[in-house]
Amino acid sequence: MPAPIEIHFHASDTDVALKEAGRIVLLVGEGGKLSAVGARVDRAAKGAVKRALASEAWGKLKAGDALELAWPVGLSAEAVQLVSLPAKATVIEARKAGATIAKGLGKAGALVVAGNHPRAAEVSLGLALRAYDFSIYKSGEKAVKGAVRFMADNAEKLASEAAPLAAVAEGVLFTRDLVNEPANVLTTSDFAARLAAMQELGLDVEILEEPELEKLGMRALLGVGQGSESPSKVVIMQWHGGKKGEKPFAFVGKGVVFDTGGISIKPADGMQDMTMDMGGAGVVAGVMRTLALRKAKANVVGLVGLVENMPDGKAQRPGDVVRSMKGDTIEVINTDAEGRLVLADVLWYAQERFKPTGMINLATLTGAIVVALGHENAGVFSNDDKLCAALLKAAGSEGEGAWRMPLSPAYDAILKSHIADMRNSCGRPAGAITAAQFLKRFVKDETPWCHIDIAGVALPATEQALVGPKCASGWGVMALNRLVRDMLEG
Ligand code: MN
Ligand code: ZN
Repeated sequence: MPAPIEIHFHASDTDVALKEAGRIVLLVGEGGKLSAVGARVDRAAKGAVKRALASEAWGKLKAGDALELAWPVGLSAEAVQLVSLPAKATVIEARKAGATIAKGLGKAGALVVAGNHPRAAEVSLGLALRAYDFSIYKSGEKAVKGAVRFMADNAEKLASEAAPLAAVAEGVLFTRDLVNEPANVLTTSDFAARLAAMQELGLDVEILEEPELEKLGMRALLGVGQGSESPSKVVIMQWHGGKKGEKPFAFVGKGVVFDTGGISIKPADGMQDMTMDMGGAGVVAGVMRTLALRKAKANVVGLVGLVENMPDGKAQRPGDVVRSMKGDTIEVINTDAEGRLVLADVLWYAQERFKPTGMINLATLTGAIVVALGHENAGVFSNDDKLCAALLKAAGSEGEGAWRMPLSPAYDAILKSHIADMRNSCGRPAGAITAAQFLKRFVKDETPWCHIDIAGVALPATEQALVGPKCASGWGVMALNRLVRDMLEG
């Protein structure tokens, strides 16, 4: 796993700023107001900072953007970066400022002169997220990013505000690592081992192996993995931070470590990206990590179904009929519609065992959701308006795009099978909705539930605000962490 950049917090100190050999970053509020240290940096630079702040270019900047003075006369620094950030900037603008700093960061690191800027903690989160890259498999010289030191008038206050956000960053980066790993490294066993290692953080982690899954009757899930050398597993992570005996909230993730499509094999073009088909499980793992790191005062359980979908002599065939743990039978029309088979059993198990107060599942489930919403929004389906509204609000506050899509019994007719209780695939029309409608059959009426189809947002091809190009985003960790905070810890 790549090491995250180091971030430290220190008290404001003019001498340190004047001796800085890396980059000096000034967070500049409205009206070009400089902190005391910022003003000293300007004087040492013979007024260059103030001249830049009076320029037309500065006036045109949006919150979070920056101007840069390279090799400033009178200073030891290699550059002074002036970041425009009003005191009342939104969380999203502050994180964008952090991303701006991260993009300029080199080996020598940076000193961020934060003064008493109220958004500095959020800047540190944006910085940590955008500084991430996944270059562990590249030989030779790597683009090293040095440590970042925040200098604040009240360093202790800033450090304490930044601590829960560092837990968020660690969760997001954990998800990104999992999604970025190739499938020959992140097998079902390797994935489970990385989750088991989180016991150190106080999570209870259980791994259900194939014989137990067989006993539980999870034939829908087991059918998907039966063509792979990697054993299918269900991993359960429990965080007990809330009241004793209080029922948990449940997160469920699709963890297909590689999806060839199975016997209904996918075209070669683009198949390499199917390493991300465990993205839902990756988000669940990242959220559980964040909740444990910040010792969330809530009871939450995360469950992931880990399988690999391979073509093989033992693989499931189109036309096979499998019986789910719930008891309903499913005709497997297309072995590439495997995610819903995995989720069907894990959703049912989660409800039978934990009777959760609510349940959210995440999955890179359909290509159809990418057609509908592109890479800007995840598709959200729900049987509960209140939970859905809370989820959309949390995602909006975190800058993670989410859009509600419909569920309706009107779509049930096309799920009909001539031989079984339902079929797993029903062609192109409304493909994301029929998948959700399928999942709904494995959700009890009394369970408030959301299904989030993250196929478009888990691994966007282009650069995003806090994510480099062709890098896993970790979409959802921040939204779900906030949902837990606002809805369960309130
Ligand atoms: Mn598939
Ligand atoms: Zn899949």
